[in-house]
Amino acid sequence: MRTGIGYDVHRLTEGRKLILGGVDIPHSLGLLGHSDADVLLHAIMDALLGAAALGDIGKHFPDTDENYRGISSIRLLEHVRGLLEEAGYSIANIDSVIIAQKPKLRPYIEEMEKNIADALHLQKNQINVKATTEEGLGFTGTQEGISAQAVCLIEALPR
Ligand code: MG
Repeated sequence: MRTGIGYDVHRLTEGRKLILGGVDIPHSLGLLGHSDADVLLHAIMDALLGAAALGDIGKHFPDTDENYRGISSIRLLEHVRGLLEEAGYSIANIDSVIIAQKPKLRPYIEEMEKNIADALHLQKNQINVKATTEEGLGFTGTQEGISAQAVCLIEALPR
């Protein structure tokens, strides 16, 4: 068994979509980034790549590469699934947390978990997404940005 950790932050701005876990969430602000800026999926991908000692998403999907401009992070997550398979690993489980002051994310969590499970060819009970605020404190509290953290466990497939 191997474990990995992922962390990411994106800035909130006007005129961008708020996409978390592959769900387009209605909100006055969205996340700024080269891709769709899905901060949750970025943290999850970094956890998975880290567990397999495959580096990070900056290495695999550089933000200088025009191919990744505006790309759905679900597509990137599917690619990471392939990288782990090639390296001989299966995913046991993923746990994650989104830190955002607004909007309320509870209504969207189940759809996020389904999107992640589908992209990784996993069962729903292998994926958990949580959301919390930081009580108005710091950059998430002032709605300057949203952060996400993820951990995962992977195991070597029998060869
Ligand atoms: Mg990111």
